Amino acid sequence: MVTGGTRGIGEAISIALKEQGCTVAAVYASNDAAAKEFTERTGIAHYKFDISDYDAVQAGAAQIEKDLGPIDILVNNAGITRDGVMHKMSYQEWHEVIETNLSSCFSCAHAVLQGMREREFGRIINIGSMNGQAGQYGQVNYAAAKSGIHGFTKALAQECAPKGITVNAVAPGYVDTEMVRAVPPQVLEKIIKRIPVGRIGHAEDIARVCAFLAMDESGFITGSTISVNGGQHMY
Ligand code: NDP
Repeated sequence: MVTGGTRGIGEAISIALKEQGCTVAAVYASNDAAAKEFTERTGIAHYKFDISDYDAVQAGAAQIEKDLGPIDILVNNAGITRDGVMHKMSYQEWHEVIETNLSSCFSCAHAVLQGMREREFGRIINIGSMNGQAGQYGQVNYAAAKSGIHGFTKALAQECAPKGITVNAVAPGYVDTEMVRAVPPQVLEKIIKRIPVGRIGHAEDIARVCAFLAMDESGFITGSTISVNGGQHMY
């Protein structure tokens, strides 16, 4: 189950997992046209539910398991931004980002954890962010949520390790998706100058790491955060 699996980084993760032999369920929120086009192009099933709604997640995950079988791999990828400096940020902008980016990780993991524990196998991969590691002007809400994901990962990894379930995070730097395409070109040029490898990332750069962490053979890696940021922030 890949949240936000129909577009951007999540789309690349869904495809990489399918290529690795997984049956994939891609979850999305509202963009029906993108989800339809994604399924027609890739053959990967899509499921529409709001990951910021605990009950909707439990029902959605149960439906996926009914249709496709047990969820052995969870990729908590979906995320949103509501940027603004703190003194102008509304409580709603704070709350939406925390619920969608962080509380969703709890809800989705809660939906699949019992089954993983019973089967003594699981892979939970949480998409954090370089901005959760380093902080970012105008992103108090987003940085707090992403930084929370990194703590969530380490604590849950400790609880899950004896049951064959690994929990890791991937922290992307700037990646060429709609989220970053919204950045004005002159700002993007300045950003690229600060990236040692000289380019922004591709969704596939992130997907490759997720597919690796999802492999049966990656069972000795848990509680880790893998940075994929072109060397921009060495944490
Ligand atoms: P996109 O905006 O391209 O895609 C977001 C996906 O998440 C969409 O499929 C969207 O569904 C889904 N989604 C959003 N809100 C919800 C919700 N409430 N319930 C269910 N699904 C939802 O994002 P990116 O691919 O750019 O980002 C993916 C992840 O990577 C995010 O967590 C982001 O924070 C993180 N990241 C991204 C970076 C970047 O440079 N792009 C850098 C660092 C981290 P729908 O299509 O219906 O809108």
